[in-house]
Amino acid sequence: MNNVDEVRRRVREFVAERVIPVEPELDRGDAPTLARLRDAGRAEGLYALPLPVEYGGGGLSLSDYLSAGDDRSVAELEGASDHGPDVLNSACLLTVRMLCRHAHPDVRAELVPGLVSGRSRSCYAMTEPGAAGSDPATLRTVAVPAGDGDWILTGRKWFISGAGAADWAIVLARTSPDGPTRSAFTLFLVPSGDGGFRVERELDVLGGGGQFELMLPTVRVPATGVLGEVGQGLSLAGERIGLGRTLRALRWTGQAQRAVELLAARVSGRRLGSGVLADQQLMQALVFEAELAVRSARSLTARAASAVASGERSTVEVAMAKLAAARALGLAVDSAIQAYGAEGLGAHTGLPRLLRWARAARIMDGSDELLVSGTGRRLLRDYREGAAAAPATDWAR
Ligand SMILES: Cc1cc2nc3c(=O)[nH]c(=O)nc-3n(C[C@H](O)[C@H](O)[C@H](O)COP(=O)(O)OP(=O)(O)OC[C@H]3O[C@@H](n4cnc5c(N)ncnc54)[C@H](O)[C@@H]3O)c2cc1C
Repeated sequence: MNNVDEVRRRVREFVAERVIPVEPELDRGDAPTLARLRDAGRAEGLYALPLPVEYGGGGLSLSDYLSAGDDRSVAELEGASDHGPDVLNSACLLTVRMLCRHAHPDVRAELVPGLVSGRSRSCYAMTEPGAAGSDPATLRTVAVPAGDGDWILTGRKWFISGAGAADWAIVLARTSPDGPTRSAFTLFLVPSGDGGFRVERELDVLGGGGQFELMLPTVRVPATGVLGEVGQGLSLAGERIGLGRTLRALRWTGQAQRAVELLAARVSGRRLGSGVLADQQLMQALVFEAELAVRSARSLTARAASAVASGERSTVEVAMAKLAAARALGLAVDSAIQAYGAEGLGAHTGLPRLLRWARAARIMDGSDELLVSGTGRRLLRDYREGAAAAPATDWAR
């Protein structure tokens, strides 16, 4: 057994035995529970696994973190509970990578060690009330030059995950009022609290929390708070979203697997008439369809993960993985709830919170429709140009 196999085994056990049993406390934002689990994760050498060694992380390569052939990767196993990546502090991977590549060296040196150790937390703020997250051209948060190299940001953001506990945010703002959309936006690092962003309220989303609305009431940001170059905001956001959607797909596949295991356990153990629920063909079909969806999602996600880790073009693979994983999660959780009967709607099964994520999964980080239409267009273009089929065959002649 190699080292990564051993890590996968221990992550699986840690999430199943330590994290899943305390999900209700973690949902409520119980700080002592989170701190205790993080200490346990550190003690077991499972903390900050994919973060850079030079900043105190575990140094697991992106490929070892995301992929395990046909098996379940570290990222999938961590994600079997949505709290897993936060507890084991891999949730900041996207932001750490962004800072390492694009932040001013002084800012990087100041912010990355805090994120890797877990002393500080961040959030990522693009989406706005009253604007279409699917179309950045409609976003209204602006940044104007203050004249001395600083920038002044004004606007509102919402559905910002984890903003309530964040020490700073990466904020997308318009820096050019008229230019083409592609180069009209810039990413800024904005602190929380006095002189920074203000948390307006926590949103109640399908009966759960964790999403916040932020105000940026004329916030001053120094030139070193610009990520990358002015005008690069959307291209850096695009760079982030490829890995971001792949991580989501891995975690949702992990949660879907968990739902199938709950489904199988329930139908096998539930007595009905002279046998068990599992004897019923309709229940066998539920298990089959859920397993088929999970295995298909894992396979597509593995393909996306390998393309993302090796830096290949991966837009189609990532979109398909995200859609397949969101659908697999929805189907598997719904089937498990059905097989549990009324009890499946009870919070103690963990199924209602999985269902919340399954529903949100079809909207967050790019809605199903946005991905289907964008990917469909790309596939058609590739087929037209003979790039999607190899060797190209002219069946229509
Ligand atoms: C749980 C959760 C956490 C989130 N966390 C964050 C976060 O941390 N930071 C952040 O910035 N944002 C976050 N978001 C916001 C999320 O990324 C946006 O909801 C998403 O980008 C969609 O934008 P929107 O909600 O403004 O919907 P809109 O863009 O208004 O789209 C609404 C609907 O229009 C339809 N639609 C959109 N485009 C097309 C198309 N091309 N063709 C056909 N139909 C279309 C779809 O049905 C879509 O659902 C989060 C959202 C959720 C639910």
